[in-house]
Amino acid sequence: MFRIFAELPQIRSSLPKLRPGVKLRKLVTQDYSYYPVGMSSTTTSGTATPARTPDDPLIAGLNAADVMKPRSTLRYVDVGQRQPFTCAGVFADQSQIGINLSDPIFRGIYHGKRSHEHDLSKVVQRAVEAGCRKLMVTGSDLQESRHAVQLAEDYPGLCYATVGVHPCSAKSFEAHPSGPDALMSELREVATKAKAAGTAVAFGEFGLDYDRLHLCPKETQLTYFKEQLDLAVELHMPLFLHSRAAAEDFESILTARLDELPKRGVVHSFTGTMEEMKRIVDMGFDVGINGCSLKTDENIDVVREVPLERLQIETDGPWCEMRPSHASAKYLQGAPPPPKAVKKEKWTAETMVKGRNESCMIPRVAYAIANIKGITVEEVCEA
Ligand SMILES: [Zn+2]
Repeated sequence: MFRIFAELPQIRSSLPKLRPGVKLRKLVTQDYSYYPVGMSSTTTSGTATPARTPDDPLIAGLNAADVMKPRSTLRYVDVGQRQPFTCAGVFADQSQIGINLSDPIFRGIYHGKRSHEHDLSKVVQRAVEAGCRKLMVTGSDLQESRHAVQLAEDYPGLCYATVGVHPCSAKSFEAHPSGPDALMSELREVATKAKAAGTAVAFGEFGLDYDRLHLCPKETQLTYFKEQLDLAVELHMPLFLHSRAAAEDFESILTARLDELPKRGVVHSFTGTMEEMKRIVDMGFDVGINGCSLKTDENIDVVREVPLERLQIETDGPWCEMRPSHASAKYLQGAPPPPKAVKKEKWTAETMVKGRNESCMIPRVAYAIANIKGITVEEVCEA
């Protein structure tokens, strides 16, 4: 459920060196705060990336002075994926407000069957204890975007939302009772209000997914990728992008609009080739790395070459966990052991559930990246 970006050169010298096995106390996820305020970075091709300014929504949660201040501890900013952070658990646990919940896994419901109590607040607590300071909660359709914004309101300063429709849900435009334009204008309204309130910091998750055409046909995906891009341009928000097995179309659509997208954004959960990664970086976008980005030896080779200042760490929970069978398992030296996880039938409030990825796992992604690149985890988190 999460991602990261580049931060401040000043921090590097001030960070304590962690000894192997020492538990990371801070999680940095994806808040784009690693972009120094007022500084720009340069892509591998020499193209300047726009500077993050203090009013940039992606760093709005951190004031400029804070962002520039040397930090004594590592911080993670994780990007929340929709499932764990649908507001279901939050409402039920904390606000006692009933809501029609669409995403049950963090309420303890698996494949329609309840296995344990809803435990979203515990998931958030574990993330904070692991060092997460910001969680970006991903909106994947209109309803989930509203949930994400609600969660950002419920956890001010901790959770931030994205607003958009995932390519696998793009059929929802056509299925809307009042037609696609009506859904688009509702999306515009949600995003506009949340952006103004500071609860939405990026537009997305949207893009193209040709691995899952059974969920939504290509033409529909293309239509609403382009139309949502128009909306993102209009809203002047950074992008939270998804691209799977669709690099050619994805890149050509974005390339045509680059001039209108000065804030760029991140291509999350990156699993593409070396060449695709380089093109994404040259276009000025960040590359989001999670467990899915570290599955194979080819993935590892790509991650090794992602420029640190363009790399964001994420978990993408509840999906994309790192598994012992993945190539990443060879690169976990020094990583903190994961919290205890049990089968969902044996759930307790203090344990993770096997197979359900959480933000608190983000240090392990950071360590894997550090070991792959042959640098310290501090360098990864600070970059
Ligand atoms: Zn995605």
